[in-house]
Amino acid sequence: MIIILLGAPRSGKGTQSKALASKYGFTHLSTGDIFRAEMAQKTTLGEKAAEYVKNGKLVPDAIVTEMVAGKLEAGRNYLLDGFPRNVEQAQALDGMLKRQKGSVDRVILLELSQAETLKRLTSRRVCAKCGEVYNTMTKPPKAEGKCDVCGGDVVQREDDSEATAKKRLMVYDDLTSPLIAYYKAEGQFEQVDAARSPADVTADVSRIIDGLMAVKR
Ligand code: AMP
Repeated sequence: MIIILLGAPRSGKGTQSKALASKYGFTHLSTGDIFRAEMAQKTTLGEKAAEYVKNGKLVPDAIVTEMVAGKLEAGRNYLLDGFPRNVEQAQALDGMLKRQKGSVDRVILLELSQAETLKRLTSRRVCAKCGEVYNTMTKPPKAEGKCDVCGGDVVQREDDSEATAKKRLMVYDDLTSPLIAYYKAEGQFEQVDAARSPADVTADVSRIIDGLMAVKR
């Protein structure tokens, strides 16, 4: 079975992927995690990807699809996280799966409003002195603006600013809207409300997967 999770940055995609992969014994395939690991090990692939990943740019489709093709084994269950990122990659994935006599079973969007996504993207704060991470929504420092650990100033990093967050969201929307349209047309698309507790979101996605498994059995 092949399940694709889509969602804006901070929609909980990584958290849900991990929870669901362990619950169902699916292989969690996160292209972002793979690139980071390859870069840490300084492999050829890692070196090729590094210049893109470090600049927040998409790695060229040919590199990504070749990497994924090398990982997908016929007959196994996968939760794909971060791939496909655009329609070209979705088409390449369809081709790979067709050769294995498989197909995408469901594409599940973790739906989050723009306002909520922006709130989540801009709520991170860090201590300028020791690097301790805070969150204005879920983990504020005990004394406003002061680090619990070292007393340093707790600040917002440039890449967590509203302007940067808005840019990230625009890039996400530009790429994801056509991808959603593609999968809606193929009839594999579902969405769940991601503005709730992680456990509630897991329960909803689980219902979708349980339904699929019952049909496949
Ligand atoms: P992520 O952890 O999914 O946000 O991915 C981190 C970075 O890895 C991205 O900013 C891209 O540079 C690269 N990356 C991950 N997945 C893909 C993909 N499907 N296509 C192109 N680049 C990707």
